[in-house]
Amino acid sequence: MTVAGPDDHPLVEIDLSAIALNWQKACQVFRGAHLGAVLKNDAYGLGIGRIAPCLVEKGCQNFWVANFSEGVLLRETLGSEQSRIFVLHGSGRVSFHTHAIHGLIPVLACLDEIVLASAEASKNGERYRVAIHLDTGLSRLGLDRTQVELLVEQPHRLDGLIVDTWVTQLARFDDPRSPECLEQRERFIRWTGLLPQADRSLAASTALFTDSSWHFDHARIGSALFGVETAPRFPMNYLPAVTLTAPVLRVQSVPAGTAVGYSGLYKTAAPSRLATLAIGYGDGLPVSLANHGQVFIHGIAAPIVGGISMGLMTVDVTRFGINQVKAGTRAEIYGRHQPVHQLAQLAGIAPNALLVPTASLATRVYRTAIAKVSEENEA
Ligand SMILES: *Cc1c(COP(=O)(O)O)cnc(C)c1O
Repeated sequence: MTVAGPDDHPLVEIDLSAIALNWQKACQVFRGAHLGAVLKNDAYGLGIGRIAPCLVEKGCQNFWVANFSEGVLLRETLGSEQSRIFVLHGSGRVSFHTHAIHGLIPVLACLDEIVLASAEASKNGERYRVAIHLDTGLSRLGLDRTQVELLVEQPHRLDGLIVDTWVTQLARFDDPRSPECLEQRERFIRWTGLLPQADRSLAASTALFTDSSWHFDHARIGSALFGVETAPRFPMNYLPAVTLTAPVLRVQSVPAGTAVGYSGLYKTAAPSRLATLAIGYGDGLPVSLANHGQVFIHGIAAPIVGGISMGLMTVDVTRFGINQVKAGTRAEIYGRHQPVHQLAQLAGIAPNALLVPTASLATRVYRTAIAKVSEENEA
């Protein structure tokens, strides 16, 4: 995270009230027992230290992070009260005793990890609470069919372990109604029916808001909280919670035929006015937006012209009034006028592949206003 300083770099505004409302909306829809917040990658780049307490205040007691270090950091933030923290990538070869000390529940990723955990439990005379990943079709983490069968035949492999939750993840999380997802759900139901009784967790944001047949005992949601539509074909109308802006550094008028940017990637067809913005790929913006995407200034679209360079890009502001856009004017990269998924679509990437790097690298400002009445950052 950058230290707040002069007004010459990207700014991400995070609306904590919108995140709280998205949480409440998810709670209203959910039919299972435990709703969990996924706060991996520093809460999708939005800052786990601010997001986690805001969710705790609304009653969230289950959290999911990517790895051990994120878990330790979150435990420090939450304190030692009852909230559960699941570590999605497994133990990372950190001892299970150490996980227990920090109140972390690793989601074991393979049979080897189960063997290690059980051996450590026996050696230390302890019992460890774990979740176990089942690979029902993503081929990423978890036990496959053969390993599930082995575990069913040899239940002693779980000795010393308290299985808290069986976990699986959909390969087409953005399209739960696809036949592949229905097959994964069938497999999950079948496998967990053979394995020892524990909570079952399958749904991420889109599945949660699809229908309750996906909910099981525990759902894990990230995108929905942050207002990110991961399945734009089935918009769930989450409240937008994140706005990224970048300042104009300079405006110039150029004649027709002017080459813009490295390698002259764009050439003006007519006399134009161009604004240079302080944001580029070094701030996490995808280079595929070259000559392609748009930003919004005073609520009006301004097309990106030329390439995306390390810290700069250029937009065409010919259609704006002569004094409407000047040095210091802030352009909305994504936010109210252009949701993050729309710009991501123009870039040909997943919404979170745009959100996470850009939000991680921008200066963060937290707000609690639910709706912004005026364009307060476009002075
Ligand atoms: C990231 C992630 C989630 C949350 O997904 P969203 O679509 O952002 O809600 C849930 N489960 C797993 C395993 C994940 O990696």
